[in-house]
Amino acid sequence: MEGQVPDFLQKKLVNQYGEDLFQKILSGYRAKRFVTLRVNTLKTNVDFVKDLLKTAGISYQKVSWSKEALIVQEIKEAAIWELPVYKEGGVYLQSLSSMIPPVFLDPKGGENILDMAAAPGGKTTQMAALSGGRAQITACEKNKIRAERLRYNLEKQGAANVYLMVADSRKLDDFFSFDKILLDAPCSGSGTLKLEEQGLKQNITEELVSRSAKTQEELLKKALKLLKPGHEMIYSTCSILADENEAIIEKVLGKSAEIVPISPEELPDLPLLPVSIQGTLCICPDKFYEGFFVAKIRKR
Ligand code: SAM
Repeated sequence: MEGQVPDFLQKKLVNQYGEDLFQKILSGYRAKRFVTLRVNTLKTNVDFVKDLLKTAGISYQKVSWSKEALIVQEIKEAAIWELPVYKEGGVYLQSLSSMIPPVFLDPKGGENILDMAAAPGGKTTQMAALSGGRAQITACEKNKIRAERLRYNLEKQGAANVYLMVADSRKLDDFFSFDKILLDAPCSGSGTLKLEEQGLKQNITEELVSRSAKTQEELLKKALKLLKPGHEMIYSTCSILADENEAIIEKVLGKSAEIVPISPEELPDLPLLPVSIQGTLCICPDKFYEGFFVAKIRKR
């Protein structure tokens, strides 16, 4: 049996996007998403992985905006788990949407970067790889069990220049300062709903949306305290609700920070939803992408 969109969420989405776009989102929730992976260049290289996939009889598709991202076809994740290159940390199963925030943060060697909500570490390890292992990354995670998963992934993927902190990012000392910050905030997950799974239990509630919004606001305020003036950060969520995205940015930014526009042309072929803050990006769920929100922010 197909899962249902909770009533409150349907109302919110229709209210925000209108009936036609709600139907588009719904078909994205119903779509069976392709398995996607990221080649971990700290351990291997893209051509080597492509050859391995061919030898294993796994066909793949490239992604226009990232050399390391591959869409694999007609297989389940378990087929990737079996590959030695997966077991050795040479590839990481990661959704395409979740690869976008690190691409826009553009981590470079020598930069001091904070990842404020890091586990299980898809984006932390991607940032490490994008900087060639040369950025100094502080990965902060509040949940101890998830932090262990993060530790495991950092080690497996050879992300050596990462300092792991098991702490609530909201309580970090304002004495710290960073060149760049990724705030991939905890959220309701309204972009990642999957209705095609049998008997799926929906965990998204109105209470979760408002609780997430409160945490997001506190985390973004803290991020702007810890970011060096004139420097940039990324705020992202896997929610497509304005309550957790544009509303948070509007509440927190004020005069202290501004949006650095992301141009959709930089990411061709992306299914986009309208946004109320020009220059931010909201991705519509479909068979390739999860619903996601990304904003680039500069501290004045
Ligand atoms: N960035 C991660 C990745 O790419 O793999 C996914 C992060 S997930 C959306 C949000 C994470 O933030 C969860 O692991 C959650 O436990 C953690 N978290 C929630 N509140 C936090 C806080 N106040 N400080 C630090 N981590 C927090």
